[in-house]
Amino acid sequence: MKKGTHHRLYLLLRIGLLAWSLVPMPASAGDSYARQQEAMIREIRKDVERTVDYIGKDRLDPRVMEAMADVPRHRFVPERLRSIAYENRPLPIGHGQTISQPYIVALMTDLLHTKPGDVVLEVGTGSGYQAAVLSALVERVYTMEIIPPLAESAEKRLRALGYDNVTALQGDGYYGLEAIAPFDAIVVTAAATHIPPPLIRQLKPGGVMIIPVGGPFMTQELIRLTKNEEGQTRSEHILPVVFVPLTGGH
Ligand code: SAM
Repeated sequence: MKKGTHHRLYLLLRIGLLAWSLVPMPASAGDSYARQQEAMIREIRKDVERTVDYIGKDRLDPRVMEAMADVPRHRFVPERLRSIAYENRPLPIGHGQTISQPYIVALMTDLLHTKPGDVVLEVGTGSGYQAAVLSALVERVYTMEIIPPLAESAEKRLRALGYDNVTALQGDGYYGLEAIAPFDAIVVTAAATHIPPPLIRQLKPGGVMIIPVGGPFMTQELIRLTKNEEGQTRSEHILPVVFVPLTGGH
């Protein structure tokens, strides 16, 4: 081969490689979820700023925000809703139930003021998303779901995703989990007409409970109940919310 031909071939190869590297590569589903999750975090921050008068602060605990940025929310919604999993709104998960709005999950988690050694009870497992967010922040999470197929699918999902410090159980969370109590924190993710007395009893002195209280299918109040070292309780109204009702035989 002549010297000039060799050189031309070499140049063509270089140009070809350059052109190939300039062709935009389709974003993988993983990249797209990562971008949507970043957008979700920005939306949560905006909602926190909008509700500063209710919640008394303009940013949430950075550990909570890290957990929100880490848990793959698209794995907790039905497959057909994965493309909108990171929108800042509740989504249906079947059986008339919902996965809560990301801002509300972040706020409730923040209000619990958890510490790494804590043992926490969640009432209302649903998809298992709230339990997964808590998993990174505490020692152990117990979560209870009253609807058997939801309890079963959440348990499988949490296990498959490696949330090994979460124990998901089927049962009526109104009565809590006497065998494990007391808990450092309790979060109820369904609206109760009153704060369940068994849950108050199962809260440790110094513990915190976050619970939406009010009638079904109307605006309820998110309440933070704290128990002091002497066992006396105090409750504060945080902000209006809308949750599916706490059901069961009580
Ligand atoms: N935390 C959930 C998540 O992250 O997907 C969302 C919870 S959804 C708003 C409320 C859940 O509470 C529903 O799955 C519902 O079946 C459950 N629930 C209602 N009453 C309950 C009860 N007495 N005990 C346990 N779970 C209950």
